[in-house]
Amino acid sequence: MTEITNLGVTETLEGLNKKEFSSEEVTKEYLEIIKNEKDLNAYIHYNAEKSLSLAKLSDERRAKNKALPLEGLPIAVKDIFCVEGERTSACSKILENFIPSYESTVTSKLWQAGGVYIGKTSMDEFAMGSSNETSYFGSVINPWSKSEEKLVPGGSSGGSASAVAARLAPIALGTDTGGSIRQPASFCGTVGIKPTYGRCSRWGIIAFASSLDQAGPLTRSVADSALILQNMAGFDNLDSTSVNIKVPNFLDSCSKSIKGMKIGIPKEYKINELSPEVEKIWDEGIKWIQDAGAEIIDVKLPHTKYALPTYYIVAPAEASANLARYDGVKYGFRKEDTQGLEEMYSQTRAEGFGKEVKRRILIGTYVLSAGYYDAYYLRAQKVRTKIVEDFNSAFSNCDAILTPTAPSGAFKIGEKNIDPITMYMNDIFTVPASLAGLPAMSIPAGLDSNRCPLGLQLIGKGFDEETLFSIGTIIEKSANFKSI
Ligand code: GLN
Repeated sequence: MTEITNLGVTETLEGLNKKEFSSEEVTKEYLEIIKNEKDLNAYIHYNAEKSLSLAKLSDERRAKNKALPLEGLPIAVKDIFCVEGERTSACSKILENFIPSYESTVTSKLWQAGGVYIGKTSMDEFAMGSSNETSYFGSVINPWSKSEEKLVPGGSSGGSASAVAARLAPIALGTDTGGSIRQPASFCGTVGIKPTYGRCSRWGIIAFASSLDQAGPLTRSVADSALILQNMAGFDNLDSTSVNIKVPNFLDSCSKSIKGMKIGIPKEYKINELSPEVEKIWDEGIKWIQDAGAEIIDVKLPHTKYALPTYYIVAPAEASANLARYDGVKYGFRKEDTQGLEEMYSQTRAEGFGKEVKRRILIGTYVLSAGYYDAYYLRAQKVRTKIVEDFNSAFSNCDAILTPTAPSGAFKIGEKNIDPITMYMNDIFTVPASLAGLPAMSIPAGLDSNRCPLGLQLIGKGFDEETLFSIGTIIEKSANFKSI
């Protein structure tokens, strides 16, 4: 491991600004590691020529004193963001050879801020999963695994979390529909924020469940997260759900006091499945926040127990509609030598999608079908409203809510992928904020008995990521978490 790749976002930018190294040098270092790295399977694609030419252009801008805010910083991208000219597959066979002719708004903003594309990271197929085991390109390994026991990095942004934790990138982009930034961040000991729904544009991100999908960064520090989100966020005409609201200075929030703030603790999150080690870290988090001068109060989120089943109706319903476009005609893979259109469609989809994606399409189609719509989809939408109301009333008494990110730390590859319900249980603490469209962040807080990371989750009011950055910094300082 070289010195440059040990640096996070802030330190890399400092080194570049002080001309300790050039963007070309930094980019070369990362490309070298990515090329030789075989153990984690975190990256699925990179383009050295493109990255180096972007780095050179960045160095030229700096030489002319025209440095941009993220000038020369290598950025890894989850394979769900369209990057112009770069294969974007959502880790599915059906999009194996899809090369977009356009750029997602979020990535384009980052390149416009001087960021340098460094490669595509693996993910669960179409972002459906919590372990990165459903990727068409194989499982990703959690860098915290001991040699005898391979652990999952979490999912679906598992490649991004693994890459950032193992110093294969100073920052990687993720998306979060029901926990896909926060849960892998927790498993790999990185910071991950899912901003408020509408804060970042969804344009050019391959859609899973459009009323839930949001983009966000995975980084090794809270301040790095603030800086990157600053440059990703903002209104976009191309996404009708993007909200036209000013993007505050998130970095400033990292140094604000939390004295006098009220932090809510929902007892509904104290479920049977919660591991004692996670509960212990949660108690420690409460103490750190109290020590920093905030007040801890109890809040009620009575519909929490319905959040997981609600999510697993709403998300598959939207997915079944979004994934209808992959039919072998317009995009990617097509099954050859079939008899007629109907057979081409069905065989393309049968072969092109993996098992979990097919399961979601079946569930989604079922809950939307005539006769079942009212009983499942409509009811789930009503419960979703109840969950939103729960949060509204909790936030009339507090500034943020503190919970664990996941009920346990990283588990073994193969341990939970037999039974989908066991896998879905991972998302129990992350889906409520997703259904309510609220910002939520995972901060590394300690280790489990396996000596693997555990994260704490902060949930904030809509468009109040600032409070999360302030409290997140306190948790980060108090936990004094040592990354690998
Ligand atoms: N694990 C959840 C799922 O499989 C969340 C995925 C995500 O946020 N993209 O649906």
